[in-house]
Amino acid sequence: MHSHHSHSGDYCAHGVDPLNSMIDRVINLNFQTYCLTEHIPRVESKFIYPEELALGKTSDDIITSLETSFKNFMSHAQKIKARYAGKPDVRTKFIIGTEIESCDMVHIEYAKRVMRENSDILKFCVGSVHHVNGIPIDFDQEQWYNSLHSFNDNLKDFLLSYFQSQYEMLTNIEPLVVGHFDLFKLFLPNDMLVNQKSGQCNEETGVPVASLDVINEWPEVYHSVVRNLQFIDSYGGAIEINTSALRKGLKEPYPSKTLCDLVKKHCGSRFVLSDDAHGVAQVGVCYDKVKKYIVDVLQLEHICYLEECQPPQNGISLKKLPITRFVNDPFWTNI
Ligand SMILES: [Zn+2]
Ligand SMILES: [Zn+2]
Repeated sequence: MHSHHSHSGDYCAHGVDPLNSMIDRVINLNFQTYCLTEHIPRVESKFIYPEELALGKTSDDIITSLETSFKNFMSHAQKIKARYAGKPDVRTKFIIGTEIESCDMVHIEYAKRVMRENSDILKFCVGSVHHVNGIPIDFDQEQWYNSLHSFNDNLKDFLLSYFQSQYEMLTNIEPLVVGHFDLFKLFLPNDMLVNQKSGQCNEETGVPVASLDVINEWPEVYHSVVRNLQFIDSYGGAIEINTSALRKGLKEPYPSKTLCDLVKKHCGSRFVLSDDAHGVAQVGVCYDKVKKYIVDVLQLEHICYLEECQPPQNGISLKKLPITRFVNDPFWTNI
């Protein structure tokens, strides 16, 4: 079993447990591959989250502490990797990567430099979008609404901007793993009324957003999704099936069935699995549910995972696991 995306309380302000405790749980659950992917530090004060304000007195202090924290993460992760590489009774392979947000081009350029300068440690990245119009969409409901308001409450324009930011991130970084593809749905209110034609929200002529399939509703949105998937296909990237949506109470993981069907069609059906854990209780969380999603709903024939090349070769490759082997993995007896 695999997870390609995780954080911990040591290095992420909303993480809840020390990294070492999470690793104990990973080993107990008998993961085959577990990737450690803290965020590239944000270097502009406008992107500091409220929860990070306690890290320093001034925004410069906070930016410095985010940078220091990431360096500490890299050395800690290397120790973990080395510790378990030599233990024959542990099958878990740890891969160190990072999650890159597409805050803006300043951040993307900085992230590329960090990746380049630490290429011996950071083997891959998870490419994500957490901001639309510079406003975080996964922090809380209020910020999500602020982001929608910045498009005059037009959901279609909001979605187009989300997928445009994703496209800029993809073309600049070419991440091997694309994180939580439809993160915008986390705070999308089911009962919000949307005009089916224009995408304008809270109009009397609108229908509840839950009755729409927002990807298929507007051709421009659909085409931007297909464009993004075709680009990911062009460099051989994979789409993450991320269970954090399930633990947060959504009915589907990221991405939805509609999007997964498009991944099958336009991106070689290359999916990897992630728990996006931020604490011990989230390691492998909702994997029983996601197994049903993968096997029964999506009916995938294989699932992909990352594997590091053996020295002296220095690289990483995407492998395919037939779904029969996925279903029979010894991991399932532990959850
Ligand atoms: Zn993320
Ligand atoms: Zn993450």
